[in-house]
This record gives sequence, structure tokens and C-alpha cells, in this order.
Amino acid sequence: MADSNVQSAEAGGRLTIDLQAISDNYTDIAARTAPAACAAVLKADAYGTGLEPVAATLWAAGARTFFVALLCEARRLRNLLPQAEIFVLNGLFAECSEAYDAYDLRPVLGSLDEIERWRAYCARIDRPLPAALHVDTGMNRLGVSPAEAINLAEGRDELGFPLVLVMSHLACADDPGHPLTARQLEDFRAVAALFPDVRASLANSAAALGDNALHFDMVRPGIALYGGRARRDVAPLRPVVRLDLRIAQIREVHEGGTIGYGAVQTARRPSRIAILAAGYADGIPRLAGSSDARRGAEVAIAGRRCPLVGRISMDLMTVDITDLPDDAVRPGDWATLIGEGIGVDNLAAHAQTIGYEVLTSLGPRFHRRWK
Ligand SMILES: *Cc1c(COP(=O)(O)O)cnc(C)c1O
Repeated sequence: MADSNVQSAEAGGRLTIDLQAISDNYTDIAARTAPAACAAVLKADAYGTGLEPVAATLWAAGARTFFVALLCEARRLRNLLPQAEIFVLNGLFAECSEAYDAYDLRPVLGSLDEIERWRAYCARIDRPLPAALHVDTGMNRLGVSPAEAINLAEGRDELGFPLVLVMSHLACADDPGHPLTARQLEDFRAVAALFPDVRASLANSAAALGDNALHFDMVRPGIALYGGRARRDVAPLRPVVRLDLRIAQIREVHEGGTIGYGAVQTARRPSRIAILAAGYADGIPRLAGSSDARRGAEVAIAGRRCPLVGRISMDLMTVDITDLPDDAVRPGDWATLIGEGIGVDNLAAHAQTIGYEVLTSLGPRFHRRWK
């Protein structure tokens, strides 16, 4: 088991990342999507689970193609995996072509400007370097328009570098039957047909776990690898992350006493409150807190579910443990915020957000272990 630099004894929380579960999830998705190739999306530090250990795990599981968002992430990945095919999703920023070349990275070109930048760089060094083309089929975010893609296909001889991937991204794949998915699929099919010798890729996790028609030559799962829910109608794969928070203190609150900032929660009975040593500065969503008007998230302590009470502070949170047996828990014990049947998506739902945001927000003050 690899360890982070924050010592376990000093940490307010312990984050345990199950690399075997990531490997199993990869194998599972690859089997469901074969014969399409299964790439892996490792942006944002592998969704908060640790770029290096996760990349090594996925390489061992058979992944050969990886997507990151930014050059800084791609460099780290290249240093670890000299043989991998690495695509950079956010495209090609000005004055970065040389770095892409030096690290053998493939920009996902998402505008005519970026295409021109790559073409000019390849011309200058007199080497045609491979790149991917992002086509916007409905996100209105990154990518050339389908009309621009048609022009590019017609002028392919003058492009000046080889395209090795044509891709697009779905806006609503998590919502089965959403009409935009069918429209994006139709547009992407038409574009992919213009580049018959180039690999095509459309599917994120939600689409990879859905209709085969969305798989094309390569799928690009992210969240499903990390145990998050990708779509409403498919259960998450194996959970990957467990988060235990230290119980710093246990104290009594009299009936009518209020707990924490804003005094938004009042004890309705003499209560025992556990004080946990982590808060929103650690990426725990503040909206998951509780008040008299609204029930917040729960933690598991000694095998039982206990509700958060009051607001979540920067470095602390408070839990009602009145219903636990007196000797069930002591200061220094641990409360589980993610794990013991509580998924990242359960926590996210209490905070009006998504598992992606919970995972990628988990902060550096936790002690991290990879098993
Ligand atoms: C993040 C991302 C993915 C992976 O999405 P998940 O929903 O996490 O599977 C795939 N493709 C692109 C372009 C992305 O930005």
C-alpha cells in the first residue's frame, strides 16, 4: 500500500483508494464495450484518486490510451508511461506546441485556430505530428462545427499532419433517451464517415455503459472507473474511494442548545455530539450540512448511521451520536463519510451536486493510502 506525505496520526481524515476496484472497473467496462478500444480519462488527478498510482494500475489492466485535460497532467503521465498514447482534451494553447512535441502528446484540436497552430508548428519543424480533431455536435463548448469538419475532410491533403482520432462529446448521455443524444449521434456518424481511416470516439462513461451504437472505435470512460454513478439506470461499478474522518472530541449539548455557525440547528433533547476534524476546506461540500429546516448528510460510526447537525465549518463538522450506545465510540475513533454503503453520489445528492465534484474536491490535508 502506497502512502501520502500527510501522516495518518496527524490527519483529520484518511482517504483510501482501492486500486483493485479501479482495475476491475476498467476490465468490466472494456468487456462491455469490446470490440471498441477502452481508453481512460485521468484528468483532475484521476478524478481526485491520484494520477500516478491510477495510471500505473490502468496500464497494468491493459489501458494504452489516456485522456487528460491539460499539459501539466500530460507531462506527469508521460514521465510514468513512456509507451502510452496521451491526448490532451483542452486543446493546444499558444506557445505550447513544442512541449507537446517534446513529450510526444497528442492535442485534441478544437478550433480552426488550434488546427492552424499545429499545422504551422509541424511545417516549421518539418515533421507531421499526430493530433485528434474535436467536433462539436451539441455541447457548444470545445470543437469545430460539423460544417468546418466537412471542409477539413475535403482539404485533408493540405492539413499538414495526420489525424489519428476524430471525437465528440455528449451533453446528456447520463439521461437515457434524451433527444439530444440521438441528434449528436447522427451528426457524429456523418462526420466520422468523412474520415473513414481515422478512429472515432464519442462515448463517456454514461454512453460506454449504454447503447452499443455510441461506442464507435474507442470509449473514454472517466467517472465509472472511479466508482461514481454515470447514468440513472445503471448502478455504479465497484466503489473506489473511502473517506474516514477523525473524531476529535465528543461533547454534550443540553436541550435547546444550538450547534455551530448561525445557530441553525437546535438540540431537541440532551444530545451527544461528535466533532469531526474535517470541513469544507477539505472539499466536503458545505451544502451537505444540516439545519432545523433541512436534513443533511450522514456518516457511519460503529456500524450505525448518524446525521450531521449544524453547518459544516472550514475544518470541522458535527454529528449527532446520541443514539449510539454510550461506549460505542471515543475521541480518536473514525467516522465514515464515504464508504460503509455511503457512496460519493449519496454525499453529492445531499449537497445538490454530483459525484464528480465530490471526488475532485477532496483536499490535500487527508492522509491518502492506495491499496
Ligand atoms: C471528462 C470527459 C470524459 C469522461 O467523462 P465521464 O463522464 O467521467 O466518463 C470523456 N470525454 C471528454 C471529452 C471529457 O471531457
